[in-house]
Amino acid sequence: MEKEKFNVIVVGGGPAGIISAVTARKYYPDKRILLIKSVGKGAVPCGIPYMFKTLQKPEDNILGNAPLEKNGISVMVDEVLSVDRKGKAVKTRSGQILPYEKLILAIGSNPIIPPIKGVDKKGVFPIYKDLEYLKGLKGELSRAKSILIVGGGFIGIEFADEFSDIKGLKVCLVELLPHLLMNSFDPEFGELVGEKLRAKGVGIMTGKKVEELLGEGKVAEACLSNKTCVPTDLVVLGIGAAPNTKLAEETGLDLGRGKGIWVDEYMRTPDPDVFAVGDCAGKRDFFTRKDLPVMLASTATAEARVAGANLYQLKVVRENKGTIAIYSTYVSGLVLGSAGLTESSARKEGFEVVVGTAEAPNKHPATLPGTEKTKIKLIFSKQSGIIMGGQVAGGICAGEIINIIGMAIQQRVSSTELETLQLATHPHLTSAPTMYPLVLAAQDAVGKI
Ligand SMILES: Cc1cc2nc3c(=O)[nH]c(=O)nc-3n(C[C@H](O)[C@H](O)[C@H](O)COP(=O)(O)OP(=O)(O)OC[C@H]3O[C@@H](n4cnc5c(N)ncnc54)[C@H](O)[C@@H]3O)c2cc1C
Repeated sequence: MEKEKFNVIVVGGGPAGIISAVTARKYYPDKRILLIKSVGKGAVPCGIPYMFKTLQKPEDNILGNAPLEKNGISVMVDEVLSVDRKGKAVKTRSGQILPYEKLILAIGSNPIIPPIKGVDKKGVFPIYKDLEYLKGLKGELSRAKSILIVGGGFIGIEFADEFSDIKGLKVCLVELLPHLLMNSFDPEFGELVGEKLRAKGVGIMTGKKVEELLGEGKVAEACLSNKTCVPTDLVVLGIGAAPNTKLAEETGLDLGRGKGIWVDEYMRTPDPDVFAVGDCAGKRDFFTRKDLPVMLASTATAEARVAGANLYQLKVVRENKGTIAIYSTYVSGLVLGSAGLTESSARKEGFEVVVGTAEAPNKHPATLPGTEKTKIKLIFSKQSGIIMGGQVAGGICAGEIINIIGMAIQQRVSSTELETLQLATHPHLTSAPTMYPLVLAAQDAVGKI
């Protein structure tokens, strides 16, 4: 029997791989599409922090093949070891040579392992998006009395929140920078998370570096830059990820200065038949076009939609000319969202900015049960009045307010437009029309322009 030949091969079964395959199916219904993934049972990445207490069992967070099967996309569990761009074929670990017309690299990222002495000891866990591996961490947690998290970015704080719900487990978090979430929030927002975590008993040490992990084979203590040592049974590394570019480099594709695979606006590498999407692909800042190491599932899927649609012809003209690094996070009932530049990053980059802030109850009247406060900060260009960034903290609605701000940034909306925004409001659903915090924050900024 002749082996099936595929027109499109997608390498990688994370969010970027799945969405590029599904989008390619929609735009090119006649093409045969194969997705090759090295991990049979992956985990939904954003759900990983919640696999240890909130979800009943780790399997509730499986990244399955359902959307692929539903769309008639073939799936193979194997690892692509090399790409022959001249011969237009990939070679896999199982020895298969598979020709392609169009190739999409969606090979993701790997957790950064910091050069800490003793980091290779047992009991130290970088976060791999692999269900079986994460089940191993869950097993270790059930026997541990204490855990130390390295890194106070969104992954670190989400783990701290989850672990602090495990009875009898002492949780510590160490962050090198002076505040939590400092890469994407100004300090007054990071401090809100600190308060929440401290109230749950998490020991937070900011402005300190983990210098050495001690223990006979297995980690037992973490020694910090302030010359103190913290006893710990386990360590989780949450300090970020680096694009996985080995395959691309070996086949001679360029890397950007940010070290992701170089791609144009349409996610094409310099080889017009090879695309790269998601964490492995280079990103550029929306305002400066500088290389930006932002790795988010939401960015990955947006890129995947661009690539999937434009594989054979440029069908979808891309409007987004860079990443606005938009995301939200959740700690013990508190939602935080950030998009675009923070006040500190904008000033550091040399932008002349004004800032508008506002706080308002998220229901009206505020005496309604379940009312929470929404806090908003908006950053505008002083001369042009265009929105450059925003941060929100509050209840569940803050998760969607940040998406409104993200849209405003992408559309380069002015402070005046935001100040005169037409909105739907309802006592149970939103802040009062008289004090909608997004509008008030814009108004606050307009007064300073
Ligand atoms: C704990 C955690 C929480 C997160 N939470 C959020 C969140 O709330 N919101 C958000 O937007 N982002 C979040 N992220 C970031 C998000 O996970 C990534 O941005 C996203 O997974 C990127 O998707 P991707 O498909 O590009 O890469 P990946 O998810 O890394 O997938 C790449 C896949 O390719 C496979 N692969 C690699 N090389 C090969 C090869 N040679 N052959 C075959 N297969 C290969 C890998 O095994 C992997 O399965 C989180 C990340 C972590 C670790």
